[in-house]
Amino acid sequence: MKTVVLPVGEDALAEAARLIRAGEIVAFPTETVYGLGANALDGAAVLKIFEAKGRPADNPLIAHIAHPDALSLLARRVPERARALMRAFWPGPLTLIFEKKDAVPAEVSAGLSTVAVRMPSHPAAAALLRAAGVPVAAPSANRSGRPSPTAAAHVLEDMDGRIPLILDGGPCGVGVESTVVDMTGAHPLLLRPGGVTPEMLRTLAPDLAIDPAVLHPLAPGAQARSPGMKYRHYAPRARVTVVTGGADRLCARYDAALAAGETPAILCANAAPYAARRTLPLGADAGAMAAHLFGALRDADAQGVTRIFAEPVGAEGMGLALMNRLLRAAGFDVE
Ligand code: AMP
Ligand code: MG
Repeated sequence: MKTVVLPVGEDALAEAARLIRAGEIVAFPTETVYGLGANALDGAAVLKIFEAKGRPADNPLIAHIAHPDALSLLARRVPERARALMRAFWPGPLTLIFEKKDAVPAEVSAGLSTVAVRMPSHPAAAALLRAAGVPVAAPSANRSGRPSPTAAAHVLEDMDGRIPLILDGGPCGVGVESTVVDMTGAHPLLLRPGGVTPEMLRTLAPDLAIDPAVLHPLAPGAQARSPGMKYRHYAPRARVTVVTGGADRLCARYDAALAAGETPAILCANAAPYAARRTLPLGADAGAMAAHLFGALRDADAQGVTRIFAEPVGAEGMGLALMNRLLRAAGFDVE
């Protein structure tokens, strides 16, 4: 299959919408990361996403909608406290989990009785959803296990020859996947941190709980509340370790790896403390760091880096999403 990359524009959006209605899959930009979308009400179309990504069949997808009213197609009931979060944070990087209606095919929910739904704010994503006229199931547009794509070039790297069309809308603003909150229990439960932070959510949902798996490995045999949490994720080819204790310890680990014949790099906020060493600087604050993380992991691969030592970040605000992705990329290797 030939993969075409088209800049976002009226004709490109119309073609993408046509492909989705015809049961094909299309990559498109959102404010979080690039998504790989199919008609969420067409199980056969959704299966093509799993094939193109090499995604495990038990990892469900997020259904994207153009307007909150479309939720009635997908969710069996919408609690009032969910409506308050939707009013505050939709459109935007917040995914909510509801009991699903029968119309949601098992391919979207991966056999679960629940469905994850989001209304994205990116103008191209919103325009595509309006033009397609159906909910669009879309996970991140990377090959399974690889860092999520935050630019059209990343999607092409992973998906060339596997999908017909990539809509190029430039770099993604948030740069990490949406916040996922399960609304089906007694309290809202944060399953994955993202652009809408716990602090923001707690202004409306003071009883929000945070799943322990956000910052800790699953206990052996424990059931993942979010199936995506059980897989190694966001991973570059290099082995990643989060190194606590400051720049001197990072430098020592780097120098030892270099002496051992590795090609090391330091993943950091800024390069200044690391003198002549190879760095992957992400930016001054957690927001900028999140926006640049996945691109930096792909750069590391392109540079032939074999070993990454990462600075930890404070788990407040966007720092929680950043630390969650870093720990998963590291397979929870912290020293
Ligand atoms: P991706 O967009 O590739 O990050 O994948 C969507 C994420 O949402 C994965 O981590 C899924 O496990 C999670 N997810 C989707 N639907 C559900 C659901 N019904 N219950 C729990 N987690 C879900
Ligand atoms: Mg993903």
